Amino acid sequence: MLQATMIQPGKIVFSQVPKPQVKPGEVLIEVKTCGVCGSDIHVWRGKHPFTSYPIIQGHEFAGLVASVGKGVVGLSPGRKVTVEPSLVCGKCYPCRHGKYNICDNLKVMGFQTDGCHRNFFAVPAQKVIPLPDEISFEAGAMVEPTAVGVHAVKKAALKEGSTAVILGAGPIGLLTMQVAKGLGAAKVMITDIVDFRLKAARRLGADCVVNAYHQDIPTAVSQEFGKDGADLIFECVGAEQPLETAIQTARKGSRIIVVGVVGGRPPLSIGLLQDRELEMIGTLMYMQEDFLTAIELINSGKITPEEMITNRFKFGDLPQAYREADENKDRNLKVMVEF
Ligand SMILES: [Zn+2]
Ligand SMILES: [Zn+2]
Repeated sequence: MLQATMIQPGKIVFSQVPKPQVKPGEVLIEVKTCGVCGSDIHVWRGKHPFTSYPIIQGHEFAGLVASVGKGVVGLSPGRKVTVEPSLVCGKCYPCRHGKYNICDNLKVMGFQTDGCHRNFFAVPAQKVIPLPDEISFEAGAMVEPTAVGVHAVKKAALKEGSTAVILGAGPIGLLTMQVAKGLGAAKVMITDIVDFRLKAARRLGADCVVNAYHQDIPTAVSQEFGKDGADLIFECVGAEQPLETAIQTARKGSRIIVVGVVGGRPPLSIGLLQDRELEMIGTLMYMQEDFLTAIELINSGKITPEEMITNRFKFGDLPQAYREADENKDRNLKVMVEF
């Protein structure tokens, strides 16, 4: 089978290797589709702080069960599946308290442990999540990033009829927007500085879109939601300006959810956080229940992740897929790799 290893930033080497033998408790998956994620591009550029080389990447994927190891029940060959790509210790404080997504020893496939960029991939059975047959492999590969949005919306404690502002219309912002709507938000505004993404946001169901380059966000929010603003603000960029905008825009006593991965130590108006009794909470990864909610939302048509696919490449053209995702952010949302 073919396997793709990133041996250093910007360099992927293909090799022919034997198909892996499935061990007890494992499931061998024939990989069908894998998405390229912003974090993959950080690794490609040598800018991911927690990944070393060589690494086999790939963490947003779907495929078919090829075979199962001893002791695996409930999964048989031919079953359509996706994988929760996190390995956790089960022993640390967060693991013991139902928050294994923030495990002290968290290893994510494609970053700290090898991922799915190969024709066949063996993973622990408890990480394998069955997909309904009606869900395509591409939509199946989008369950993982959708689960990020589900986890964020659940952390936000969004209620039926809530209103929300999403700062950033990249794939995670768009999925968070769709999840918020799917889980009952009455009105959602999304902002970005790229019109292409805002157009996509409208197509995907945003109630209003704002270009932050041309419009002042706090003004736009009070125009759309009234002077009391929105119930929740999701920061899905991870940069100083949107973080500051979130603080400036949030209604007194309300909640800001930081979904974006923040680099460095941005100077922010923490004084306002205190003065306005704002809550700023972080959210990382997901848990299995978030995958199940994501699958439900996709299967019921409340989320249409395939509409976010802007480009498709064959597995053998993986470096081109990375280049396309890296160099043409203004015309891509999700680049898919087909096996
Ligand atoms: Zn990802
Ligand atoms: Zn742990």
